[in-house]
Amino acid sequence: MSSQAGPKRFIAGAVCPRCGAQDRIRVFSLDGATHRDCVACGFSDVLEEAPADGLPRGRLDGPRKPPPTKGQPLQFHPPKARRRQAGPDDSGVS
Ligand SMILES: [Zn+2]
Repeated sequence: MSSQAGPKRFIAGAVCPRCGAQDRIRVFSLDGATHRDCVACGFSDVLEEAPADGLPRGRLDGPRKPPPTKGQPLQFHPPKARRRQAGPDDSGVS
């Protein structure tokens, strides 16, 4: 057993997001993260993780894939890249 679970304590007034039971949510520390679970329905998730490890935050199941960086090229150029020095209006002038 490499992971040690801290003491579990109930949160007064906490409502389970799954079954809606009140005062059935308890939190405990496990592997540096704060977990919560519901004793009524067995719901459990992670509230927060210690950022020391640099691991991505696992909310429910596991690490999420990083969003793709390709596909949306950034537009750095202003709409009018070519500006004419001469000519106050360039409508129909060629
Ligand atoms: Zn519940």
